[in-house]
Amino acid sequence: MADRTVTEAQEHREIIEALFGFVDKAVAPIEEEHAELLADETRVFDERGLMSPEYQDISRQVRELSAEAGFYSLYGAEELGGGNLSAAGIVAIQEAMHHRYGPNRSVVHESVIPSPFTNGLSPLLLELDEGLREEKLEAIAAGTATLCFALSEPDAGSDVFNLKTRASAVDGGWVLNGQKQWISNAAHASHAFVFAVTDPEAFKARTGGITCFFVDTDAEGFSVDTGIPMMGNRGSNATIISLTDVHVTPRQIVGEEGKALKLALGGISRGRLTMSATCVGLARWALDMSLEYANTRRTFGRTIGEHQMVQAKLAEMAMEIYLCKSAVLRTAEMVDAGEASVKETSIIKARCTEMVGRVLDEAIQIHGGLGLTNELGLEAGYRFARMLRIPDGTSEIQRRTIARRMLAGDSTL
Ligand SMILES: Cc1cc2nc3c(=O)[nH]c(=O)nc-3n(C[C@H](O)[C@H](O)[C@H](O)COP(=O)(O)OP(=O)(O)OC[C@H]3O[C@@H](n4cnc5c(N)ncnc54)[C@H](O)[C@@H]3O)c2cc1C
Repeated sequence: MADRTVTEAQEHREIIEALFGFVDKAVAPIEEEHAELLADETRVFDERGLMSPEYQDISRQVRELSAEAGFYSLYGAEELGGGNLSAAGIVAIQEAMHHRYGPNRSVVHESVIPSPFTNGLSPLLLELDEGLREEKLEAIAAGTATLCFALSEPDAGSDVFNLKTRASAVDGGWVLNGQKQWISNAAHASHAFVFAVTDPEAFKARTGGITCFFVDTDAEGFSVDTGIPMMGNRGSNATIISLTDVHVTPRQIVGEEGKALKLALGGISRGRLTMSATCVGLARWALDMSLEYANTRRTFGRTIGEHQMVQAKLAEMAMEIYLCKSAVLRTAEMVDAGEASVKETSIIKARCTEMVGRVLDEAIQIHGGLGLTNELGLEAGYRFARMLRIPDGTSEIQRRTIARRMLAGDSTL
């Protein structure tokens, strides 16, 4: 390992230790105070699948504490006042947090450090008009204002070239009209990155034509129609939103007019890498629990870890995790080296999200009836893992990308 890499790895370990210290000292008491609520999904989410006001309040407290302690903006760029961590640093932290805290500490995972592109110091903020950014940045960095990323629509999930939301030119800017679906956090966000077609011709020719706008969620015509109750993540906090004649000005354009698809894909790519590291961490958490249980639970006069069939499960889990972890680290190194890594990011997104599902499934099996109880968190992890195969590009879309890149000549592995 080069000296620089050794120093960086040491720095990452120190940040992780500090983060653990912060969670244990500052967040755990809040979790303890609200233990009953946090253990009850029907109180964390309302019947529409949206965060309840009580949960929002807990989440806000944790965000603000994390911002004060300097952790909330860890993944943000230096120009935005963030921690400017490398991709290697982000995946190390993401894995470590999920390995240590498992799936049941939602407030830790959602509020201590936000998603690296849809919330907090998103790199999309770098593309914002400077004046507007200055106005909004402080509240976003402090966790008092949150964001959402509104690309998907009822008819445009995998197929972004089916977007129907239009921005029509009017005096002084555009008006946005359309509907967005599956948008995480829109009901609680202060601002939304909204993607709309500004040039139907270029869009039809697939040469561009999509523009991203930074929209205040209290703007006239911006409304959250409903939440979408669903499995995983203890509900989901996903929403359907409507845009009805929402006025936007050139100042609200994120990046360049008509060139937002690249921005969106860049962000999603970052999300895929982080999600892959989350899977590795969560799978390690489940494996550790399984090892402990295998060493203590006894059947037929011996620990279940002494039965070959259980050993085989443990070995399979470890093999899968080790290979995924190695691939995530390698992909992060490619990102940090500025190498093209579209194919590799798709490989790890598909494989890690599938791997964590299999590992959680086997962990439940090893725990027998206990594995199915709400007590251990394995069933919550299993539902969360199942959810991950859909957002940020489904497993099928990742395979499509991998195959298409290879067929076009990018076949290095
Ligand atoms: C929990 C959650 C949170 C989300 N958060 C956000 C968010 O914050 N912002 C946002 O913009 N979006 C968000 N999404 C939307 C997400 O990105 C889409 O759900 C995803 O891209 C899939 O789109 P779809 O649901 O429309 O499925 P479809 O695109 O309709 O796909 C249906 C099925 O067909 C398969 N399929 C489609 N095309 C092909 C093909 N060419 N080859 C083979 N198979 C194919 C898919 O893999 C899938 O199995 C979220 C989704 C979820 C579940």
